[in-house]
Amino acid sequence: MTSNHASSPMWQRPLVATTPDDQIVPTIHAALAEKQVLPSIHFVDAGYTDTTLLLHSQQQYGIDLYGPVAADPSWQARQQTGYDHTAFQLDWETKTATCPQGIQSTQWHQKHDIGGIDCIDIRFPVAVCRHSPSRTQCTKAITAPHHLKLRSQPLYLVMQAARDRQASPTFKALYAHRAGIESTMAQGIRRSYLQHARYRGLARVAFQQIVTAVALNLIRISAWWAGVPIGLTRVSALQSLRVGISLA
Ligand code: SF4
Repeated sequence: MTSNHASSPMWQRPLVATTPDDQIVPTIHAALAEKQVLPSIHFVDAGYTDTTLLLHSQQQYGIDLYGPVAADPSWQARQQTGYDHTAFQLDWETKTATCPQGIQSTQWHQKHDIGGIDCIDIRFPVAVCRHSPSRTQCTKAITAPHHLKLRSQPLYLVMQAARDRQASPTFKALYAHRAGIESTMAQGIRRSYLQHARYRGLARVAFQQIVTAVALNLIRISAWWAGVPIGLTRVSALQSLRVGISLA
């Protein structure tokens, strides 16, 4: 991006193709804000539901970033045999945690992880943890006390709310609004060669993408007027083969 683009509205500025998907969300929201068309809900796939994005979208623009979030990666949650962080009572006011054995933490330190994200390091008393009957459910350390690592309060709460929502029966029904966008992108790729830049230079490529979007809209309006039915889900060659085998 050159300095010539700095004064342009954000939606007109070309973006390099190497920008990771999740990093583009704030740019999209800023562009929508400039045009005063911010949505209250933004449906996204799992690649865009990083905790910091969920929080930033809410705080900065009042947008509910709605999509599947990552499950708790801890061994306690994965094996469902140990105490994951939800088994601990957290008191954000007094900065203390209470474990399932009723033992209160002795240390609560605010830190940054290696990615620079705010987190909290919580420790429990060495002597109690060492002889705890629940030790194997808590830690795999040989002698060290249990050590709970959490995101900071706003990040922790926004992720927990997203995980709880994901488990609710209404989540799938609302998320179904996103259905169709993948086929729109597939149509852009297959019919309009969206993945191939016809020109050199970011500004020209950005222009190609805008013209492609306009063309797709016209194609769809034309199909709608003509009463063309919605296409069936594409069946891959491998799936066709499987169907053929099972029918034989
Ligand atoms: S190991 Fe420590 S933190 Fe874990 S349940 Fe036992 S006393 Fe509580």
